[in-house]
Amino acid sequence: MKIALVGNQNSGKTTLFNLLTGTNQKIGNWPGVTIERKTGIIKYLNCELIDLPGIYSLSPYTMEEEISRKYIIQEKPDIIINIVDSTSLERSLYLTTQLMELNIKVIIVLNMVDRLEKKGIYIDKDKLSKEIGTDVVEISALKNTGIDELINIIKNCNIKSYEKEIFESNIENEIIKVRIKYNVNRFEAIKILESDKLYSKYQTQDIKKLREYLETTYKMDTEELFASKRYEFIGRLKEKVTNVKPAEENISDKLDKIFLNKIVAFPIFIVIMFLVYYLSVGVVGSSSTDFVTNLIDKFGQTTRMFLLQSGASNWIVSLVVDGIITGVGAVLGFVPQLIILFLCISILETTGYMSRITFLLDKFFRKFGLSGEAIIPFIVGLGCSVPGIMIARVIKEEKEREAAIILTPFIPCSAKLPIIAMFSGYFFGDKSGLVSASLYFLAIAIILISAFFIKKFFTKGMGTSFVSELPEYKLPSLKYIVKDVSDKVKEFVKRAGTIILTCSIIVWFLLSFSWKLEYAVNIENSILASIGKTISFVFYPILGTFSWEAAVSAIQGLVAKEQVISSMNIIAGLGKDLSSSLSIFNSETFSFFTKPSAYAFMAFNLFSAPCFGAIGAMKRELGSTKKTLKAIAFQITLAWILASIIFNVGTFISNL
Ligand code: GDP
Ligand code: MG
Repeated sequence: MKIALVGNQNSGKTTLFNLLTGTNQKIGNWPGVTIERKTGIIKYLNCELIDLPGIYSLSPYTMEEEISRKYIIQEKPDIIINIVDSTSLERSLYLTTQLMELNIKVIIVLNMVDRLEKKGIYIDKDKLSKEIGTDVVEISALKNTGIDELINIIKNCNIKSYEKEIFESNIENEIIKVRIKYNVNRFEAIKILESDKLYSKYQTQDIKKLREYLETTYKMDTEELFASKRYEFIGRLKEKVTNVKPAEENISDKLDKIFLNKIVAFPIFIVIMFLVYYLSVGVVGSSSTDFVTNLIDKFGQTTRMFLLQSGASNWIVSLVVDGIITGVGAVLGFVPQLIILFLCISILETTGYMSRITFLLDKFFRKFGLSGEAIIPFIVGLGCSVPGIMIARVIKEEKEREAAIILTPFIPCSAKLPIIAMFSGYFFGDKSGLVSASLYFLAIAIILISAFFIKKFFTKGMGTSFVSELPEYKLPSLKYIVKDVSDKVKEFVKRAGTIILTCSIIVWFLLSFSWKLEYAVNIENSILASIGKTISFVFYPILGTFSWEAAVSAIQGLVAKEQVISSMNIIAGLGKDLSSSLSIFNSETFSFFTKPSAYAFMAFNLFSAPCFGAIGAMKRELGSTKKTLKAIAFQITLAWILASIIFNVGTFISNL
């Protein structure tokens, strides 16, 4: 037996599908398109279940509609399970009125009943069942209630296939005429009257006359007529079977009056984001970082002394202190700032404010072809682009999802924070919080503008998905926050101990040896320098000088963004003693940096291709090497152009 799950987007099809089939699933794509095709076997019943794409009607306007319609009409499933979001009957039942015309058994599943009470909605399901003449089950796919009853109904299967008449008699008469003439079912008869493109061969003079009769009687074209008559039917039905008493205004509603207020919501959002950056990069952040950096420096000096006294050879001392401790320490120094950043984000998430941001930005994002949903990968991307790219799966609309995957790496992730913190801390002093926040807003601007162009030139016809229901505000749970923050910090520290450690050793090696493998050569003759010198011209428009040191450091951002700082530290610090990471700008090597070139260099590192980890995630989620390469080329080009503009305009202005 074949059963099809049919319903609107976000009605809970996939949730129910997973409940019914467990791990017995086969996932693939529909032929020729990237829309996911999931089939499975219902446990105990031995029925095949298919999760059809979410649709609002059976017209062939979208790819989803076309796929679902083709499947239903050609494969003729034995039973259609029509999932209805019980909290928005009106929107959902439109599809139901069409499914009831197909002469296929339909079971109506009212999903999300767990949310009805809160909304003050009561649905008389027995009455609904009587009115539309088929079985109705109330379930919550999320909370796993009512599923047994649904399985029983499928098992006993005493539902009849039927075609329900829902229009007034003179319309029904026309439908009957078409059915008799062509021996078609009710669905097809209506489609013929609507002059649906799939039934063009039936468009004879007789049909045209029937259509003209309806159009002159009702003064609208037939497609519109049937749609409006369906809604009339649904309106009457809803009146009969539902009872709504307005829910009382709770604290969440009151808070939303402020946080979602037309006038103050946006300023509040900006102030909150600014505070987050001010706390983590500004005051609290930089003083705690200085403290930790000092500790690491002391540790380095002590280690050097200890090693020298115990008779270790020069190169070992240099490797351990100038390579490993300097490189890894440069990254670890930023842990305090990250803890504060993660803490802020975690609080925003658990209190429910983050969902408000989604909601708030929805309308704004829509102007650029994204929905509020796209903010989720961006916010997760604040921690790390990899989970950000992966969570883009929450975006239902395929093209929008691709756009979000390409754009998420533009968000300043935690690994980029050290770059931002170091440059803005040194060059912009007490304005460092402002400068960091400005990069954040620059990222949003770049993302929106890019989305606009991606939509215009790359993924034509990109649709957007809906932001669903907002959760209640909650007091943050300490246990959750502690776990969330410590997980993220652990991940960051782990990277310092693995990737950064390895890279630091490699950089130290390339810097300490010449091509002839002579040790302790003049830096200028090192392998790293010769590599850097061949590519340093690329960075000339961004830095205003040829600096192989900055060039090789930026390139290492590909491995991990923190490595940019590690590398600069190692290069600047080799053979010198540094008291704090900021003093690298006092070193001869990097003293050429000015405010404009510092900002430009930050921007380049922020927007250029992400690290290999994120590139890998992009490739997995985009599912294509070609698309990934295109995306990376786009990111690098954009970063380079933007940074060059920032440097040149900035320099021009500061010279005025
Ligand atoms: P689909 O687009 O129809 O496949 O819908 P999904 O199964 O992906 O569900 C969409 C959203 O609704 C998800 O966030 C689900 O967690 C949520 N959802 C699904 N069923 C229920 C339910 O019974 N109650 C509630 N409150 N949420 C649900
Ligand atoms: Mg789904």
